[in-house]
Amino acid sequence: MKKISLLLLIALSVSNCKAQKEEKSITITTEEVKEIVTYLASDELKGRNTGTEGIDEAASYIQKQLQSYNIKPYFEDFKDEFKFVNRRGDSITGYNVVGYIEGTDKKLKDDFVVIGAHYDHIGFGKAVENDSIANGANDNATGTSAVMTIAKYFAAKKNNKRSLIFALFSAEEMGLRGSDALAKKLKSQDIDLYTMVNFEMLGVPFKDRDYEVFLTGFDRSNFALKFNEYQTTNFIGFSEVSKQYSLFKRSDNYAFFQEFNVPSHTISSCDLTNFDHYHKVGDEAEEMNFEFMSSIINKMISGLEKLVNTSTKEIVLNEE
Ligand SMILES: [Zn+2]
Repeated sequence: MKKISLLLLIALSVSNCKAQKEEKSITITTEEVKEIVTYLASDELKGRNTGTEGIDEAASYIQKQLQSYNIKPYFEDFKDEFKFVNRRGDSITGYNVVGYIEGTDKKLKDDFVVIGAHYDHIGFGKAVENDSIANGANDNATGTSAVMTIAKYFAAKKNNKRSLIFALFSAEEMGLRGSDALAKKLKSQDIDLYTMVNFEMLGVPFKDRDYEVFLTGFDRSNFALKFNEYQTTNFIGFSEVSKQYSLFKRSDNYAFFQEFNVPSHTISSCDLTNFDHYHKVGDEAEEMNFEFMSSIINKMISGLEKLVNTSTKEIVLNEE
């Protein structure tokens, strides 16, 4: 009897040790990023226009993936419905897909970090050689894949002291409708939002910068400064083009800034100077650099891992 339990103990401690080793080496692979982007940008989904069958399929796919990573829905269901009237006066129903990982710290779990990206696109575009589907690979299957794989990482690691909401927005292309609906809903619940991090167009690297991604609204908070400190490389930089075109106000981070008045930014590697297919039928998965994507997603994760675990809220708005 004694012998058996000793053997059992050894076996257990060996498997424990193995588990710990495996836990340390969670990396997002180029292959899994490629798989997500390729599906979301496939012709089958017909450009993921809000209110169409194609985007419903995209939403179901995102939900299934999140469930397979063991992520729970933030609301009762993953799909969180909202309605609005579009510019032509039609009533449209959209769905954000919203997942949740509760924080592990008794106190800090009351702080929330929202990590988001829009998964909708514009549907059809001007036909080129019989192709009229605007696939929206860079815009924004790439950002969606970043949110999904970051969610997968934290679900496996279970080391986030703060609580995380993973939000995939619909109807961004119809005027930032999904993020507006979710920001207002979370505000009505009075959650304590620390910061909102949004991802847009991460599929193509810059060739002419000393950083890898830029931050919209760079001057509005110390986000870039702190994140680079956490990440330990010159990862996030300032884009003149972003400032010139006020990209800060043109994506899903903006509603969170308006509702909560906390640091809310978009991270991107495309300020339209390095991509010719923006909102065109040529925005296809083949144009994406998946090695670059997995590399920056892993860097994002290492910065976020610090951000969600600091004992105080180190990222703050700059005084004007
Ligand atoms: Zn976009």
